[in-house]
Amino acid sequence: MMAAGAAGLRESDATGRNALPIALIELYASIQGESTHAGRPCTFVRLAGCPLRCRWCDSAYTFVGGTKSSIGAIVAEVRALGLPLVEVTGGEPLAQKHAPALVAALADAGFEVLIETSGAFPLAHLDPRARVIADLKCPASQEAHRNLWDALAGLRAVDELKIVVADRADFDWALAQLPTRLAGLAATILWSAVHGEVAPADLASWLLETRAPGRLQLQLHKLLWPAATRGV
Ligand code: SF4
Repeated sequence: MMAAGAAGLRESDATGRNALPIALIELYASIQGESTHAGRPCTFVRLAGCPLRCRWCDSAYTFVGGTKSSIGAIVAEVRALGLPLVEVTGGEPLAQKHAPALVAALADAGFEVLIETSGAFPLAHLDPRARVIADLKCPASQEAHRNLWDALAGLRAVDELKIVVADRADFDWALAQLPTRLAGLAATILWSAVHGEVAPADLASWLLETRAPGRLQLQLHKLLWPAATRGV
């Protein structure tokens, strides 16, 4: 009796969840270009909206608009593309209040779920099956005041911290945060250079010079499709 009741509750919860609205910019299959999952075929679910304005943002087309969809419709579209890996991204996906429910629905549907976020939103309410890829915003982004230090320091071993640097000052600043405000961080650290501002080879030499923890990240999708600005 208890088991049947619990199953019934889950079903009705799921039905309600499926109808929740999501503003969607684009949904497509591509090759994962970043993170330790780079190179894997992946479905991208790009949500609309972001309250940040990073100086070097390459996704400004996500700031407004989007097509009204629902969690159920998105899960169905992801399923139709037939890939086991899905990333919820933006914009800032967590700026939409139903994004955590979307993440949980995708995990319930059996997908391996990544969520890419700015590091400016709480993470504790996310489904623990999702792997978080969170930014550490450096000073040159002009959004470093938004870093939610407790959330970033609490990233797990299955999560990733992405540090995008626009110059050497950003790199040195980020390096100084690791043993202080981010002491004990368990997540993999990804170092990335702002496209057109720092040569990846320079970032590589800084990593070697300082013996910084983490790994250099190149944006694989920009190497594969250098002219594309969307849908990759
Ligand atoms: S958080 Fe991401 S989407 Fe938002 S402004 Fe910064 S880089 Fe652009």
